This record gives sequence, C-alpha cells and structure tokens, in this order.
Amino acid sequence: MCIFCQMINGEIPVTPIWESDDVFVFLDQNPVNFGHCLVVPKKHYENIEETPEEVLKLISGAIKIVGKKIKNNLGYDGYNVVVNNGEVAGQEVFHTHWHLIPMTVTEKIIWPKTKSYHDGEMETVIQKLRSDN
Ligand code: 5GP
Ligand code: ZN
Repeated sequence: MCIFCQMINGEIPVTPIWESDDVFVFLDQNPVNFGHCLVVPKKHYENIEETPEEVLKLISGAIKIVGKKIKNNLGYDGYNVVVNNGEVAGQEVFHTHWHLIPMTVTEKIIWPKTKSYHDGEMETVIQKLRSDN
C-alpha cells in the first residue's frame, strides 16, 4: 500500500488539516513554505488522467476551502497549486496529489526559463494537441 494510503488509513500517524469522505488534506513534511499542504483523494489513483471527474471536482472544492485558510488563517498573500503529474514531472508519490504552496510577494515563484516558438512551430503543436488520436 502506498504511503499516502497508509496515512489515510491511520497506519501512519498524521493530523488532517481538513478532510471529507473523499478528500484528505495534510501538511507536506518537506515544505517549500510553512503551511505547504497536500490535497489527496482518499481513494488511490495514480495520476490526474486516472482520477474520475467527480473526484477532481471534490479536490477543487477542498483546494478552495484550504486555500482560504492559508490566506486568512496563516496570513499569506496567495498560494501556488502544483501537481507533479508523472515521474518526468517530478512525481515521487504515485497517489495523485495537489500541492498548495503558500506564497508571499517577496518569495513569488518565478517560472523556469521559457522557450520561444520559431516560425510555424506553434501552429504544428496546436494541430497535434487539437487532434483526438
Ligand atoms: P511529489 O514529488 O510526488 O509531487 O510530492 C510528494 C510529496 O510528498 C513531497 O513533497 C514529500 O515531501 C511529501 N511526502 C512524502 N512522504 C511523506 C510523508 O510520509 N509525510 C508527509 N507529510 N509528506 C510526505
Ligand atoms: Zn495510495
């Protein structure tokens, strides 16, 4: 059983920040900022594509509730919502989860260096992404 399932089942002690029948929210043990939360479905789904829409909707609701707490109760200016979806994207725990990373004006996350499309490249990518196969 994965580490998040063990936490949700009570096999590993963890204090919930917020929970419902379907969603569990707790502190990340290695926070980018104090108050860094992880929002996870109680049922095990490996990644976003495997997670049913109804569950994604419940996750969105939890993000709004806990996001408000991060701002109002901890006094942050905002927060980043981050999902590392897949190993290549930095996913280490393969039970899908949403990072809520509290941010301040001074610590604002800067996106990694961006790239530039050359002539025609953007159109090619658009066509590929619009394709259903
Ligand atoms: P990922 O890289 O998969 O997006 O993020 C996994 C996160 O889970 C990491 O930020 C890591 O600190 C956190 N994490 C891993 N194991 C535990 C644990 O046992 N307890 C808590 N609270 N967080 C964990
Ligand atoms: Zn799991």
